[in-house]
Amino acid sequence: MISDIAWADGSFVRCDEMSLSPATHSLSYGTSVFEGIRSYGGNIFKCEDHVERLRRSADVFGHTVPYSNADLTNLCYELLKVNKLADAYIKFLVFYDDSDVSFKAQGCSSKVVAIALPFPSKSASEPYRLATATWRRAPASCHPYQAKTSSTYALSYLSYHQKAVGYDDVIFLSTTDTVCESSGSNVFFIKGDDLFTPTTDLALAGITRRVIIDDLCPRLNVSVTERDISYTELESFDGAFLCGTAMEITRISQIDEIRYKTSALVGALATEYHNLTNRRSAP
Ligand code: PMP
Repeated sequence: MISDIAWADGSFVRCDEMSLSPATHSLSYGTSVFEGIRSYGGNIFKCEDHVERLRRSADVFGHTVPYSNADLTNLCYELLKVNKLADAYIKFLVFYDDSDVSFKAQGCSSKVVAIALPFPSKSASEPYRLATATWRRAPASCHPYQAKTSSTYALSYLSYHQKAVGYDDVIFLSTTDTVCESSGSNVFFIKGDDLFTPTTDLALAGITRRVIIDDLCPRLNVSVTERDISYTELESFDGAFLCGTAMEITRISQIDEIRYKTSALVGALATEYHNLTNRRSAP
């Protein structure tokens, strides 16, 4: 359930007083971009990285975001304050208005809005069971995977609903049978004490993924390799996990018929991540 007050193009507004034209360009043509950000105890984790990614996503679709990263960061804190939230998920959306009903968006203005919802930090969670998605990820030349655009999630939606029974999520493969990511998280595999993760050619360059590679692995003295991982290789791994802003670090217990055991390394990474996100620091 989203909180009562949203931020829209410079002002705080009650969500129940907002409206959207049915001719909104981005509703028809998938030209909106968004960002999901977490606050832990009132401290927003990696806020600068998220607002910077929002800007890069917006740039891909030619959106204008007339606010500095500092403005966007400040409004995130204001949004938490007006909604009296400490542990929260903040979602930005940038979309084209209704000035052009054709796909060209000629004369359309970009709208920038943000909402928040209560989102408690989980210290432990049930492992995820994944099924491979019925839809494949198109080659990198066919889709802007580094923009967090709504159109990427159309296949997440379709695939999840086609394979949801008995599974928690889907994992996407490329047209050459390499592993990409889940519907909304990056993925890592474990062999011995080493981690392996797909490159970001066909996956979002996740901020949590980066934290794992740059901060957590060096702390735990774990090596990590970014490379293509084929589907046939999956049964050779000892363990696996998903990671993302909402997902945090969640162990994978199964992909199709392949089972993965509990892993001390996933537990150690999840603890380090929890300590990092819940660390008290100035905004
Ligand atoms: N891949 C996809 C498709 C996602 O939606 C997300 C969530 N933003 C991620 C990966 C993980 O990214 P992050 O760690 O930046 O949340």
